[in-house]
Order: sequence, then structure tokens, then C-alpha cells
Amino acid sequence: MRFKAVIFDLGDTLILTDRWDYDKCLKKLLSSLKNDSIMIKIPFEEFKRGYFKVREKMYLKSEPALREVDFRSRIAITLKIFLHYSIYEGPILTHAIDAFFDAFIEDAYTETYVSDLLLELKKEYKLGLASNFASPQGFWRVLEHFDLGKFFNTIVVSGEVGFRKPHPIVFKNVLEGLNMKPTETVFVGDSLKADIFGAKILGLKTILIENPGMRKNPYAIAGELDPFPVEPDARIPNLKELPRALSNIV
Ligand SMILES: [Mg+2]
Repeated sequence: MRFKAVIFDLGDTLILTDRWDYDKCLKKLLSSLKNDSIMIKIPFEEFKRGYFKVREKMYLKSEPALREVDFRSRIAITLKIFLHYSIYEGPILTHAIDAFFDAFIEDAYTETYVSDLLLELKKEYKLGLASNFASPQGFWRVLEHFDLGKFFNTIVVSGEVGFRKPHPIVFKNVLEGLNMKPTETVFVGDSLKADIFGAKILGLKTILIENPGMRKNPYAIAGELDPFPVEPDARIPNLKELPRALSNIV
């Protein structure tokens, strides 16, 4: 066997988000703040506009260096527009972020065969996880909910690293955690730019999950799901095809 490790992307690779209702998440966040006595007397639509303005600005600014845009800062900056003071630290924002991701979790799902598949792969390969997730707090909450953490030898989250895929540091950190060379490793993900391009420049083999139905998420980040001039070593429609694709890759 040539490969010793497989690294996975999380969003729309292991956990599917095509039913994600972003408005619902923001509404839950807002009502959590109200429950914690943050007096926001602004209509939801206005808050939403403010949030997306801040989000877009932060992503545009951070894109050239591939810095991750911290979710907590994003919320704190949005709130500052309306409250005129900052609540970055402390439990109020922590509760609100939990509320946002609890709403996210309600509509996210995994295919039924995913646990068994990871369990089988774990017998043959070291497994790593490398996720672009702007909120470490949200990431760990989501991972715990789906009980996926136990399958991986090492887990790297962009929100903790400070950079996002395709930045090489994310891939290097996972490889280091697995103690693997790029040539011993296959990367599996759904984004040509973030996953396939990022893994390829370091010399990993790559498998793209095409998931055509999953690519409708209007909130995907800055062109992450757009066409990108890179060709993966294999394309598969879903994870069921992964074992075969792994054994075919040379
Ligand atoms: Mg993804």
C-alpha cells in the first residue's frame, strides 16, 4: 500500500450543509443576545445587513494573505455598529455564538454510512481533518455533535491557525500532526481552490467530491466553490466511492 494517510475537509465533505439556513442562525444569535439583556432594538433585517457588510469587508481584506476571519470579531464588530460599545470578551458573546451554531447543527447532516466508512479507513490509514472554520468554538461544537472527532489522529481548524486553506500552513500542520510526508498522503475535499489546489502545491494526491447538489450554498466564502484551474487526481460523486478511488490512485 502506497498511501499511509488520508486527510479530510469537513464542510460539504463529511458534514453536508445544503440545508443551512443562515437567517435562522443569525436570528438565534440575536435572540440569545436579547435574552442576555443586550438591548438591541434594531429590526432583524438591519442587523443582517450590518453583519454581511462586516463579513464581506473582513473577507476582502483578509483574502490576499488567506488570513482566517475570526467569527467572534465579526460579531463583535457588527454589534459595535449598533451598540457603540464592544462585547468581544465574555459569556454573552459565547452564548450567542453557541446559539448560532446550534441552529447550524439543526440543518447540517452526515450521510448514514460516514461513521462506518471512517472506521474502516482508520484500520488502514492514519486520518486527519483540516477544516476552514472561522469559529473554533463553533467548529468543536459541530464536531462533538456529530461525534466525528474520535476518528482522527489530528485535527486542524483554520480559526485556530489564523490562516485558511489553501494556505500551506494548514496542510503542513496536519501532515506534522500525522507525522506523514505529502507523498504518503491523500487529501479529500469538495473545493477545488481550498482543498485540491492547496494540497497539490505541497505534493499530496487529491480526490474531489463533486457533490453537485451541495454546491448551492450562497454563503460559501469568496469564490471557494468557483471553478479553479487545477485538476484533482480523482473525482468522486460521494464518499461511498472513496475506498475504490483510494485504491485506484497511483
Ligand atoms: Mg468543504
